[in-house]
Amino acid sequence: MKPFVPQLVYIEPQALQYELGQELKDKFEKMGVEIRETTSHNQVRGIPGDTELQQYRTAKSTLVVGVRRTLKFDSSKPSAEYAIPLATGCMGHCHYCYLQTTLGSKPYIRTYVNLDEIFAQASKYMEERLPEITRFEAACTSDIVGIDHLTHSLKKAIEFIGETEYGRLRFVTKYHHVDHLLDAAHNGKTHFRFSVNSRYVIKNFEPGTSSFEERLEAARKVAAAGYPLGFIVAPIYRHDGWKEGYEELFQRLSDSLKGVDTAGLTFELIQHRFTKPAKKVIMKRYPKTKLEMDEEKRKYKWGRYGIGKYVYPSSEAEELERVIRGYIKESFPRAEVQYFT
Ligand code: SF4
Repeated sequence: MKPFVPQLVYIEPQALQYELGQELKDKFEKMGVEIRETTSHNQVRGIPGDTELQQYRTAKSTLVVGVRRTLKFDSSKPSAEYAIPLATGCMGHCHYCYLQTTLGSKPYIRTYVNLDEIFAQASKYMEERLPEITRFEAACTSDIVGIDHLTHSLKKAIEFIGETEYGRLRFVTKYHHVDHLLDAAHNGKTHFRFSVNSRYVIKNFEPGTSSFEERLEAARKVAAAGYPLGFIVAPIYRHDGWKEGYEELFQRLSDSLKGVDTAGLTFELIQHRFTKPAKKVIMKRYPKTKLEMDEEKRKYKWGRYGIGKYVYPSSEAEELERVIRGYIKESFPRAEVQYFT
């Protein structure tokens, strides 16, 4: 898969007061990408498209270059203390993606150019927690690796955290465009994770992302560059033949990581879930999806803000956890499974 190139770029005038803002403007001009001005990255107007669906698709390949004004970071439990806001949105078309609802009517991609202010805020959070370690998650609201070949914001964040004593950075990706990150001075403080899944899930639900093989090749490069490596298996989904599908996944994973130092390898396991509002949006945007979202077959779990989610019934979830943990133990006996949720 080719690296992402936006079809349309919006730039906030204020963003041009920052070096990165100017750099991106020059870059997109040279690339011949259409550039428009917007007063706010929160209210981009006039995204082309005759229907809502067309507008959605155009928005997914529209990049907005803006200034992050809210410097209060969201929390990002359980995997990190804070979400570090480098970008929002993603060009991928994963049917199950939680951004469908969290970004609502603003599915376009936003990148923030005031990195020094964002890093200064991160330093404050780290100071407040001393002598505890503070972990920042960079992929809470986007697939940051997928756009970083354009901005290098993630690379700067990796090097910023690499210089700290008490900071740690983590993110997850479905993209393989990692070459520019291989020489970053990470000092072992960035946990680089790839999202993987069974063939069925990748084929049916993850259009617009790198293939499994491409992700694995990138994982090998990242491990060779000395980054602590991890995999997130999400969403774990009970499709026909799921046991064989996931067994094959771990076999392919282990075959392709032969000869790679996997000391410290981690796995995070997340079962498929959906909310009622998400189901509505997904059915509108991907009307032919095979994604099973039948409330009757699921267990309701109360959630924040009164929006509960539908997960697998306990017996099915337990089976998923047991079976997947078994495969991991077989293929990667020394790896740590950090959680199943
Ligand atoms: Fe969402 Fe990740 Fe897929 Fe992007 S790659 S659409 S962030 S699930």
